[in-house]
Amino acid sequence: MSELMRLFIELAERWQRRWREARVFEPEPSPGTPKFFITAAYPYPNGAIHIGHGRTYLIADVLARFHRHFGRRVLYPMGFHYTGTPILTIAEVIAAGDKTVIGEYMEIYDVPEEEIKKMGDPLYLARYFHLKSKKAMEAFGLSIDWTREFTTIDPEYQRFIQWQFEKLRKKGLVVRGRHPVGWCPRHQMPVGAHDTKDDKEPDIGQWTLIYFADGEGLIYPAATLRPETVPGVTNLWINPEADYVVAEVDGRRMVLSRDGAYRLSFQTSVKVIREVKGGEFVGRRVQNPVTGEWVEIYAARFVDPKVGTGVVMSVPAHAPYDYAALRDLGVERLIPLIRVEGYGEYPAKEVVERMGIKSQDDPALEDATKEVYSAEYSRGVMREDVADLVARHLPEPARSMVRAVFKMYFAGRPVKEAREFISKWLVESGLGGVMYDVMNKPVYCRCGTEIVVKVLEDQWFLNYGDPKWKEAARRLIEEINIVPSDAKAQFLATVDWLDKRACARTRGLGTPLPWSPGWVVESLSDSTIYMAYYTVIKKIRQFGLKPEQLTEEFWDFVLLGVGAVGEVAKKTGVPPEALKAIREEFEYWYPLDSRNSGKDLIPNHLTFFIFNHVAIFPRDKWPRQIVANGWVLREGEKMSKSKRNVLPLDKAVAMYGPDPLRATLAVAAEVEQDLDFRDAEARRNAQHLAAIYGLVQKIAQSAEDRAATWVDRWLLAEVANALERAKEAYEKVRVRQAAVEVLFNLKSVFDQYLSMVDKPSTLAKEAAKAWVVAMEPLVPHLAEELWAMLGGNGFAATAPWPTLKPDPAALLAKRYVDMLIEDVKKIPAFGPAAKKILIYVNRNFAWVKAALGGDVRAAVQAGVPPQAAKRLVDMVKTLGDEMRTLIAAADKFDELEALNTYKTYLEKTLGVPLEIYDADDKAAPDLGGKKRAALPLKPGIYIHT
Ligand SMILES: [Zn+2]
Repeated sequence: MSELMRLFIELAERWQRRWREARVFEPEPSPGTPKFFITAAYPYPNGAIHIGHGRTYLIADVLARFHRHFGRRVLYPMGFHYTGTPILTIAEVIAAGDKTVIGEYMEIYDVPEEEIKKMGDPLYLARYFHLKSKKAMEAFGLSIDWTREFTTIDPEYQRFIQWQFEKLRKKGLVVRGRHPVGWCPRHQMPVGAHDTKDDKEPDIGQWTLIYFADGEGLIYPAATLRPETVPGVTNLWINPEADYVVAEVDGRRMVLSRDGAYRLSFQTSVKVIREVKGGEFVGRRVQNPVTGEWVEIYAARFVDPKVGTGVVMSVPAHAPYDYAALRDLGVERLIPLIRVEGYGEYPAKEVVERMGIKSQDDPALEDATKEVYSAEYSRGVMREDVADLVARHLPEPARSMVRAVFKMYFAGRPVKEAREFISKWLVESGLGGVMYDVMNKPVYCRCGTEIVVKVLEDQWFLNYGDPKWKEAARRLIEEINIVPSDAKAQFLATVDWLDKRACARTRGLGTPLPWSPGWVVESLSDSTIYMAYYTVIKKIRQFGLKPEQLTEEFWDFVLLGVGAVGEVAKKTGVPPEALKAIREEFEYWYPLDSRNSGKDLIPNHLTFFIFNHVAIFPRDKWPRQIVANGWVLREGEKMSKSKRNVLPLDKAVAMYGPDPLRATLAVAAEVEQDLDFRDAEARRNAQHLAAIYGLVQKIAQSAEDRAATWVDRWLLAEVANALERAKEAYEKVRVRQAAVEVLFNLKSVFDQYLSMVDKPSTLAKEAAKAWVVAMEPLVPHLAEELWAMLGGNGFAATAPWPTLKPDPAALLAKRYVDMLIEDVKKIPAFGPAAKKILIYVNRNFAWVKAALGGDVRAAVQAGVPPQAAKRLVDMVKTLGDEMRTLIAAADKFDELEALNTYKTYLEKTLGVPLEIYDADDKAAPDLGGKKRAALPLKPGIYIHT
């Protein structure tokens, strides 16, 4: 560790200790005082938190610290999520002696061997990483109120979750029933995003199975997503080299891939009779159950036995893969089914030929398929004559009856409707079935087992499919501020597709379902409204309430205001004053002002957070803002345990010091962007912060009490402007923008100031104090140190946001001087031969204001001499927007005085001595006619060579 990093760490530890001693971050409610309540997703202690967590917690901390400067009570609490399988699974794997996982834990998290041995116990493991992560958060300088810390297996928390679930059940939002869920065959339980490797949510889709039968009555269940194309089937495909089985499925003998039979066995009864290679079925003839036509089974190596049933129907007119594969075999038979604007009778053939696809192995077939499927699904209409294709094998009157149904619901219908109709019709008439599958496979449980889909009969679900619930969730999404704003669409899309979701498990840590023994509320269901729990747990402990006193009446009263305090006190044994104080605390802090999380939690946790808030709380308690930040990469790569490149937060703090790490995580990318953490950049930022330290130290030590010059005023004016911009950026959660403004732009301003003055003035000290407050949210330890050095009162963390008066004239003076420097440099005579520069100043600033409107006549009427008016109006037009704004805002501006103050700066910059004259000074020599030509803001310049 370098000397510099060590200094940053020592400095941070000193201030962290002082904050703790003064209880700076432990707010009490204060009715009438504005408040800001912010939370970030609590971590699972199944490993130490890393810089990805660090980034989310930092953004929340920056907002918390920013709001503290406006006199708001700010609450930023933290808890630990012990619930469910994330912890249990890791403990099991470690207990089983898994070398990979143990290696990862020892190497990435530096867990000593004697500790690893104890981590087979899930509680021990959770406790270990809980403490390690908490220490990392403290060392990182997060302004967390630890008096409200909890774990999700605390008995009080369990009471709270049970209350929540009773509420949901009474509203009819918890249902039990048959439903497909992602399932770990080894653990024998449902799995969601937080139970899988890489937190991948299994995407459950549905195949329609269509029962083709051979002469012996053996069924070949073709799995398809496009059952409406079944009248156009010309053959079936089976992979001759793959393993298949003949099995009894629900009492019927069927042929399907061995893998398909395994997966289907989680959804219905499957009994394998014999195992065979797919080749055995090639060449057999089977009957299309819809048309009655007999077609042949062809061999196809492209059939994946892990997808669907391993039996695929071939529809060459509308499926590019089928068309290309049949063309390779020299077979061309096309049955047109669907009309789509912009395509002819056979869209598949057309697209394959247009793309120049050579064979069934061409990767372009993927794009061809997407194009045809999406065109047909969104704009396609079934042809009228498809009804004539169906039921050719049935005798009258059955044939006419079936055709009549197809004419009504299928022929001439949009593809979407036809698909819905036929898949229902197939199942109802016993000619087909349904099979669920993981569409984004492979998805693995944390234990390494591949996830399948199971149909559960008696599972408990939260019914996110409830239309009224969805409606209320959408209303909240419309109202809430979301950063970045374009994530709103993703929330709305999630609300659309969300359906029933398993909310309880039969194993894992957590809260038992109050009404159904043996079930435990799972981790994405017990983490949706816990922000409310932070507001009350402190007082629950202070009043020494027992878990059994935290009844339904208790929570109804403190969280919903339901019930009379006297009765609730009588029923629960909680003193009325305790009930009132706890209720007040909730009323003060709720609603939540900001919820911060990674963007990966939008489709699950953050959307559930919205759903559960609208279900439980009245509208005035709905959350106000969600901030979803991007990923953190390390040296351009995704962090993963298997690559061993995860950077734990405690290690990162030790490597760079908390403030350089914070500055890097704040400035390397804007909130919603992915951030690439680079070692070199963190080290550069450490140097940069050290330079800020040196700069402020110089001001603190050498400032002299003197009358403010234009230069001093300019510094203050620049700081005032930058603070205004930074404030707006913080308010809009543009953390990178704020950091650039405060840590970089302002640093340059101060550097320039010091280069222009012999000694800084006390005004510069005031400017530096303002600067320190503005940087405090980002680099709080450094800010405290500098604040103390500058003689600030109390902590920088609680100093009010500075109110500096804008000073347009001071800014104007500096811009004017810089403009003059540029003008001099453009004059050909300026060069090594230049000996002296004469400047003639026209002091009639009022003329410039009169010329600002751009109208010559108006300028003359306002007092500009006619001979100068046109030139002046033209000159003013060439000035930039900022300059014009400053001119409009400045009442008075004495050019001569400004130039005299900046004389040393000008001479230093230009390297030539200067003589400055008032153009109205009769005694001054008029060299080269420059005296007469001088305009306000455009002095006459004469160069002596
Ligand atoms: Zn598993």
